Amino acid sequence: MESKPNILMQRYELGRLLGQGTFGKVYYGRSAITNQSVAIKMIDKDKIMRTGQVEQIRREISVMRLTRHPNIIQLFEVMANKSKIYFVMEYAKGGELFNKVAKGKLKEDVAHKYFKQLINAVDYCHSRGVFHRDIKPENILLDENGNLKVSDFGLSALVESKRQDGLLHTPCGTPAYVAPEVIKRKGYDGTKADIWSCGIVLFVLLAGYLPFHDPNLIEMYRKISKAELKCPNWFPPDVCKLLGMMLDPNPDTRIPISIIREHCWFKKEPNVKNKRPVVENNTVSSSGTVLPDQTDCCDGLAAEANGESVAPLSINAFDIISRSPGFDLSRFFDDSFRIKEARFSSRLPANVIISKLEDIAKQLRMKIKKKAAGLLKLEGLEEGRKGVLTIDAEIFEVTPCFHLVEVKKSNGDTLEYQKILKEDIRPALQDIVWVWQSDQQLQSQPSEQELQQTDDQQQQQSQS
Ligand code: ATP
Ligand code: MG
Repeated sequence: MESKPNILMQRYELGRLLGQGTFGKVYYGRSAITNQSVAIKMIDKDKIMRTGQVEQIRREISVMRLTRHPNIIQLFEVMANKSKIYFVMEYAKGGELFNKVAKGKLKEDVAHKYFKQLINAVDYCHSRGVFHRDIKPENILLDENGNLKVSDFGLSALVESKRQDGLLHTPCGTPAYVAPEVIKRKGYDGTKADIWSCGIVLFVLLAGYLPFHDPNLIEMYRKISKAELKCPNWFPPDVCKLLGMMLDPNPDTRIPISIIREHCWFKKEPNVKNKRPVVENNTVSSSGTVLPDQTDCCDGLAAEANGESVAPLSINAFDIISRSPGFDLSRFFDDSFRIKEARFSSRLPANVIISKLEDIAKQLRMKIKKKAAGLLKLEGLEEGRKGVLTIDAEIFEVTPCFHLVEVKKSNGDTLEYQKILKEDIRPALQDIVWVWQSDQQLQSQPSEQELQQTDDQQQQQSQS
């Protein structure tokens, strides 16, 4: 007799147990709407409550909702009921990478490919202020194409609480991948701690065993703290040098990711016979960064703009419809496109809108780079991680006293742009905006409402 499928929140059909961690279980799931396979991590709310780190979890989850990287398990959504929080994530069909290592050490080229993917993933999150702090075999998964996927990024607050609880010392949390400064419970830098763990991963991939290991936990701690590295004779000399710098017990002198990327072994090309495209389903640049962050959607109307006139472009009814939320085609693309632009209508003349934008540029210490037909380019003065932040504001005339303005990032870092848009530009535009047409899109972004229940509950607890 077939049992009734277990449906979570009328959205996901629950399948088999994929594994169990400290905070809860991970199940296979399938979207009842799209049929897409997912992994659902269920965490008891009280376990998070006890950590008192809801704010940090919320912040990091918000960031993770915005991130897209081919080597990071994507967080699709976060749901909650009275007792549990559900993280709906991309499902990694290939399981844990280390199941491969369990069958024997990997060939240099294979290890090299995984190591590069790991460093790309870690670097990407670090650039967004998110540290992993728990890089270990259970969190390094493979997709069906054999590409590496790091999981649990964004849950580092949980890791922290695990450490405070001393759970690190239980069989749930092996310290084998943990940096010496973390074990010593000194204040530590999440970036450096992650680099250490990546070093341990590289060693294990190539050796098939741990660099610092002992059945006695105290002895293992001692070995980690001393970090006396012995590379087996089959390790290429360049790898030994790189590992020596990554497994430096002093976090201050430990090699940063920027230098790892420059290291000759990291940069080496794989042998042609093993060379396969790194990612099949995602667009990745040669440096491993995801393209949507760098590419600009070219707007045909903007391309028409030339000359020095600041007069807005006039648009027709079709343009208005296609720019209104209900007909927003960008919804059919991924989030990284959606979050790039914001639109509002204004019942003020163009010159008022332009002078407002100029004021804002001044306040933000940005210069107005270019004024073309209806287009203002606001350019930052300093170089960010992805170049100078440049924001385009394009004004379309519907009638002389009714305009549509589109604000979007044309260069620089998406997160930096979003922060400025939310915290500075939107509030500053308040008195000239009639209606924000992209409100709906902005609200659907990070998890502002997510974990709301968690917060409410916490508040109630602190009041009682
Ligand atoms: P911790 O509680 O310290 O985070 P953990 O990482 O082992 O420990 P979970 O993250 O809860 O615990 O994961 C449990 C197991 O579920 C993992 O060992 C992994 O094999 C499996 N798993 C987790 N996420 C996925 C996923 N997205 N796709 C496939 N399997 C997964
Ligand atoms: Mg995990």
